[in-house]
Amino acid sequence: MTHFNRLTPELTAELRRVAGDANVSTAHADLDLHARDSGHHEAHLPEALVYGESGPQIAAVLKFANEHCIPVTPWGVGTGLEGNAIPLYGGILLTLERMNRIIEVHADDFQVTVEAGIPHKDLNAQLARYGLFFPPDPGANATIGGMLANNAAGIRTVKYGATKDNVLRMEVALPDGRLIHVGSRSIKQASGYNLMQLFVGSEGTLGVITQATLKLVPVPQFMSAIIAGFPTVEAAIETVVAIRGSGVDVAALEFIDVTNTQALNQAGTDIAPYPTLLMEIHSAYEQTLEVDMQTVREICEDAGAISFRATADNAERKVLWNARHHAYETLVRNHPGQRIFIMDVAVPISRYPDLIEFARQSIERHGIKGYMKGHAGDGNIHVELPFGDPITFEKVQAVNGEIVQHAIALGGTATGEHGVGIGKRAYMQAEHGDALDVMRQIKQTLDPRGIMNPGKVL
Ligand SMILES: Cc1cc2nc3c(=O)[nH]c(=O)nc-3n(C[C@H](O)[C@H](O)[C@H](O)COP(=O)(O)OP(=O)(O)OC[C@H]3O[C@@H](n4cnc5c(N)ncnc54)[C@H](O)[C@@H]3O)c2cc1C
Repeated sequence: MTHFNRLTPELTAELRRVAGDANVSTAHADLDLHARDSGHHEAHLPEALVYGESGPQIAAVLKFANEHCIPVTPWGVGTGLEGNAIPLYGGILLTLERMNRIIEVHADDFQVTVEAGIPHKDLNAQLARYGLFFPPDPGANATIGGMLANNAAGIRTVKYGATKDNVLRMEVALPDGRLIHVGSRSIKQASGYNLMQLFVGSEGTLGVITQATLKLVPVPQFMSAIIAGFPTVEAAIETVVAIRGSGVDVAALEFIDVTNTQALNQAGTDIAPYPTLLMEIHSAYEQTLEVDMQTVREICEDAGAISFRATADNAERKVLWNARHHAYETLVRNHPGQRIFIMDVAVPISRYPDLIEFARQSIERHGIKGYMKGHAGDGNIHVELPFGDPITFEKVQAVNGEIVQHAIALGGTATGEHGVGIGKRAYMQAEHGDALDVMRQIKQTLDPRGIMNPGKVL
């Protein structure tokens, strides 16, 4: 690891000149607000907060930091869960929260070009008048830059893909001060190495994404919600496979373990305590929606569903999804004085029941509480583990480690969507083997002094 320099008063004065005086803060309250993300990792204070205002300004800040060997940690809005945006080595915390404009809506191309600090829900609110939306949705109101940097996904990935599948072009500032454009506005791209996807998921360790052109889709005319309970996890996952194989293009296919049904019910639903699937279907026509709902009903019944409810009523659909979206907050309320460790792994869908059973046994063996839910359509599970004291935290970490290693052994990944950050670094060698060396070489080429978000990913 490079030896980093501290931001002395002289260097801070120079930074103010480079970034613009109004864009630099060393006020303790500002630094403290950016010392931790939304996960369980320990806080670290940066030495200065820099507000990004444009691509060229950010490139100049990186050049300055590189020359003086000062670490830079990009920051979207801090909803990451793996310590991804915690400034482990102090230095500059570069926040993009002021770069929140839509630059241009290319409505006829179903695209939008934005500054990277715009939160995705704000973007979609502004796009509503065009009848278009940007589909990736990690639940939290994350920024487009943070979603690209973490390759965020979520409940609609099963139909619309993850963030990586919905970006065409980006502007990226590099540590040496270059401001480059990667990708193009063409849907088809076969020109040169795919540098754009190198920066997607790089968690701010290679450069700063300052702008992006994103793909949009029309807001669906008709939507339905379906909820079904099953006697076993296997039956629920058999249903997931059958639905995907049927050609019904579900827009969400969520698994809710028995442990989590209670939390959802506290948020307004009345779900029976069985392994449950919560689904959504989007359609341009009412008739096709009805045909799809009927097909899903038949598949659920064939798999032995104990309960089944389908609705095309908007209000009823919103109650169900609201409960799902607020399940985390409900869990937090149910565990006063405790924190929640949210873990994230993904496996091939056929291995999902194995993973869930393994996780259940691991939680039971360590004698702690654990709640499971996940994006079953993508083989992605989140295990939520409350803790309030060091001994329980140790057990939580043991459970986390066991589940991650098992997911990798099942042909899966240590993280389906939350990224590596600090929390998953220990598993990178097991998952990637020699490919990890290639990642290190790429990092060395783009960021030889290691100033970009040090201590993360590698
Ligand atoms: C309750 C809850 C539920 C969640 N559910 C999901 C979910 O279902 N799916 C999912 O994917 N995530 C989920 N998350 C995690 C989180 O919302 C995502 O990881 C999101 O992408 C983080 O975006 P952010 O803007 O908050 O970025 P931050 O947390 O600020 O940063 C995340 C990472 O991106 C880097 N970064 C930020 N902006 C840039 C930029 N412009 N250029 C380069 N690097 C940058 C940071 O350095 C950091 O490494 C959830 C979080 C919470 C709190």
